[in-house]
Amino acid sequence: MVRKFFVGGNWKCNGTVEEVKKIVTFLNEAEVPTEDVVEVVVSPPFVFLTLVKSLLRPDFQVAAQNCWVRRGGAFTGEISAEMLVNLRIPWVILGHSERRLLLNESNEVRREALQKLDLLFPIYSIMEFVADKVAYALSRGLKIIACVGETLEQRESGSTMAVVAAQTQSIADKVRNWDNIVLAYEPVWAIGTGKVATPAQAQEVHSELRKWLRDNVGVEVASSTRIIYGGSVNGTNCRELAKQPDIDGFLVGGASLKPEFIDIINSVW
Ligand code: PGA
Repeated sequence: MVRKFFVGGNWKCNGTVEEVKKIVTFLNEAEVPTEDVVEVVVSPPFVFLTLVKSLLRPDFQVAAQNCWVRRGGAFTGEISAEMLVNLRIPWVILGHSERRLLLNESNEVRREALQKLDLLFPIYSIMEFVADKVAYALSRGLKIIACVGETLEQRESGSTMAVVAAQTQSIADKVRNWDNIVLAYEPVWAIGTGKVATPAQAQEVHSELRKWLRDNVGVEVASSTRIIYGGSVNGTNCRELAKQPDIDGFLVGGASLKPEFIDIINSVW
């Protein structure tokens, strides 16, 4: 099974119109392999999505960084999956650790924070927020970059695989078709810290995760689902990481705002 190399650029909460245009310019001018070799998806903040989409070369795609857990309505400040579909935004990142940790998005039951929602939707009284988002966005036709990963404390206590498996399990419980999911393994301790996982550390988790998919979801899904690595990937460390058999690409934060993102796309070779 050939898994097409995937490089995502997560711009997070960065940029002005001028800066965004500069990034798009260096992306548009870059020499990179063709679409059948590498899939490139950049994820600007919501407010720049349509601007970037209108300026970006046609062989690169765009992703939103989040979307609401169900149909829109009285949810001030949220963006629904339907809106993204309406704007022809094909991808969305869900379950990023910055949202899980800073905004309390979880794959666990969050009764307290969701009390208000429970009143509105009794069906959601037990809610797996990230997994529900993934299932809902998929049902609307979006493709998902679903993020999982352990904190430093969890790694040091030896529970990396248990954490990553639980996060993936909550998605597997709600999703039957994995064709439109890319799984991003992003150890929290490596995100934005400059402390990248070694190729061996990343490969170990990726291969365990693939084995977990094989044992718990299916052989087909395990061999076809792309598992990409994120956490301080840059133009220098990407090549060794890209050589690992179970690393199918990257989700890049800081370096995706800079021309070195092109080197990361080219690490497919
Ligand atoms: P980083 O972020 O590359 O800046 O570590 C990665 C991510 O959060 O997706």
